[in-house]
Amino acid sequence: MLKEIKSLFIKEKKSNKYVSCEYVQHGFNVDYEDIKMCCFNCHEGGGRQILIDNYHGEMINWNKFFKEKRKMRELNKKGIILDRCKGCIFLKEREWDEEDYINYMVFNHWTQCNCKCKYCFTNEQSDYFNARKNYNMYPVIKKLADMGKIRGGGEIGFGGGEPALLPEFEPMVNLLLDCGCDNIRVHSSAVKYSLAIERGLREGKLTLVVSVDSGRAETYENIKRVNHFNKVWENMAKYAQSQSENKYKAKTKYIIYPGFNDNKEEIDKFFELTNQSGVKSVVLDIEGGWYEQNKYKVPDYIYELLDYAYDKALSYDMKNIELYDRASHMKSHKEEYIKLRDNVK
Ligand code: SF4
Ligand code: SF4
Repeated sequence: MLKEIKSLFIKEKKSNKYVSCEYVQHGFNVDYEDIKMCCFNCHEGGGRQILIDNYHGEMINWNKFFKEKRKMRELNKKGIILDRCKGCIFLKEREWDEEDYINYMVFNHWTQCNCKCKYCFTNEQSDYFNARKNYNMYPVIKKLADMGKIRGGGEIGFGGGEPALLPEFEPMVNLLLDCGCDNIRVHSSAVKYSLAIERGLREGKLTLVVSVDSGRAETYENIKRVNHFNKVWENMAKYAQSQSENKYKAKTKYIIYPGFNDNKEEIDKFFELTNQSGVKSVVLDIEGGWYEQNKYKVPDYIYELLDYAYDKALSYDMKNIELYDRASHMKSHKEEYIKLRDNVK
């Protein structure tokens, strides 16, 4: 009888199923001069809906902020998709909750770095980007934490710039971990060692991705244009040692950058050092600017190198092999792209 009443109650419970996304519901992206809804922009609508314009670290009225978010949620409930969200792959139909909290955050509001990668968006004006002042988000996020409005179960990302150079980085990561955030992703150069990253790895709640892109100092210096090769591998070994057992969240990354590291010897040395450092996870990618210009004419040897790097990772018993978007696309659409390329020739 109790079972029947229970199932009747479940049937009568109003469905809250509609098309929306995690960022509309519970997220934001802190950018240079505004707060946006997300950082995605590769779809028809262009994403990056502005939530607070002309923003430079002022205290946010979070109650007002949640009120605005509720309005967007109501639009989605009525089947209305924001223009900027149109075509976005993150839209999905599912049950959504009605609560006010944040569990998706991206921090992207600074550009200073201790590397000068040739492929970086800051490359053309590195002096400008290194001198650019950033604002301090810690007090603003602390207020949100004090209101009990930060939760785990989502995803926190640090972009930049080099996160470890951000003055508020250490207290911010500690605060987020204290709030129960259990999926923090940091892209770092690993030139500066961070105790907050170490804590996140130890607790199995932070993923660190370090794009070393090389196995030899000379190649590293050609790409990164700084001479921190040994320091980076030393720090990777320390991070790898500190990570919680069986989590493998310290990752080295190899971006195939044609003209710089597109050969098997470099990949061999990269994997030797990754293995020696104790890192058990790798990320593979292909350099974005090059890919944009060459995606319909990728030479065979680049496909082969990607397969070679993947097989190398397997041979070292890497526990996690991640292919970022471009590499994943290349690998999964290989036949189709080669056909297309060869027909154009
Ligand atoms: S649907 Fe896409 S573009 Fe819109 S907020 Fe979500 S992630 Fe951003
Ligand atoms: S480490 Fe990242 S932010 Fe720094 S220069 Fe290289 S690509 Fe740019």
